[in-house]
Amino acid sequence: TAKRDGKGGYRLFEPAMHADVLHRLELRSDLERAIGAGELELYYQPVVRLGDGSVSGFEALLRWHHPTRGMVSPVEFIPIAEETGLIVPIGRWVLHEATQHARRLEEATGGPLRMNVNLSAKQLQHGGIVADVKSALAASGFPPERLVLELTESVLLEDGDLAVMRLNALKSFGIRLALDDFGTGFSSLSYLSRLPVDVLKLDRSFLRDGAPALTAGIVGLGAALQLEVVAEGIETDDQWYALQALGCDYGQGFYFSRPLDAAASLAYRAIAVS
Ligand code: C2E
Ligand code: MG
Ligand code: MG
Ligand code: MG
Repeated sequence: TAKRDGKGGYRLFEPAMHADVLHRLELRSDLERAIGAGELELYYQPVVRLGDGSVSGFEALLRWHHPTRGMVSPVEFIPIAEETGLIVPIGRWVLHEATQHARRLEEATGGPLRMNVNLSAKQLQHGGIVADVKSALAASGFPPERLVLELTESVLLEDGDLAVMRLNALKSFGIRLALDDFGTGFSSLSYLSRLPVDVLKLDRSFLRDGAPALTAGIVGLGAALQLEVVAEGIETDDQWYALQALGCDYGQGFYFSRPLDAAASLAYRAIAVS
């Protein structure tokens, strides 16, 4: 029902907004059963060495097969999972599933691979995160050195000291940390001194918007700080060659492969270099 509509007035419920609120409420209750109902699935996008296109590992990316709406994007449901706290059990499931699959991938390809898992700020605020990571590693037998947890700068926005403490606890048993979507935040550089990261993931907006000087600057920054740099969103061979020329070590993007379901990720082989 619309509220006052006069000059300087406001409407709380425009019809479109009403629909949006309903939509979110519905997704929220659907998400509660999604895990148990087996509607969540992990896809895996290869991360490649830009030198030769060989696979260094994979990033696990959540997919939700909604019974009536079809595929719901994580961009839509991760925020709902965060608001409701459901991200904690969902994230726990992701950690277990991704590390188990990492073991299968290593067996299939006969070599060590990294597995990247996205963590949201809410998961770090929750006291169980360290135990959850440990139990996923123990259950799968995947070595902590090859698990990379991806975070964004948002982990420092609320209770940053606690987040840093938890990240140090995670690092103390050997896992690696990556700063995701790097370069899009308000003060990316100051975060680098606070967060114990090993890897910078250059946000794909730099490639998309054609910002070669900024790209070169961040690759150089990574080198100076002895951090690995992964370029996100490589969609063309020209982008690949340009990053190679800059000395960027790793990349991922649709040019190499879209995120793959578990079976397809097992079948995936290194890109042939021509
Ligand atoms: P992200 O971690 O930055 O993941 C990269 C996103 O870029 C993925 O979108 C991927 O499909 C997409 N992408 C990769 N290469 C290309 C490319 O060449 N071009 C374009 N246009 N896009 C590319 P996706 O899978 O929709 O995931 C979106 C975001 O959802 C992720 O961004 C991450 O922040 C979040 N997310 C996904 N899975 C999880 C999860 O398990 N836990 C948490 N907490 N967040 C997740
Ligand atoms: Mg990521
Ligand atoms: Mg990213
Ligand atoms: Mg992103």
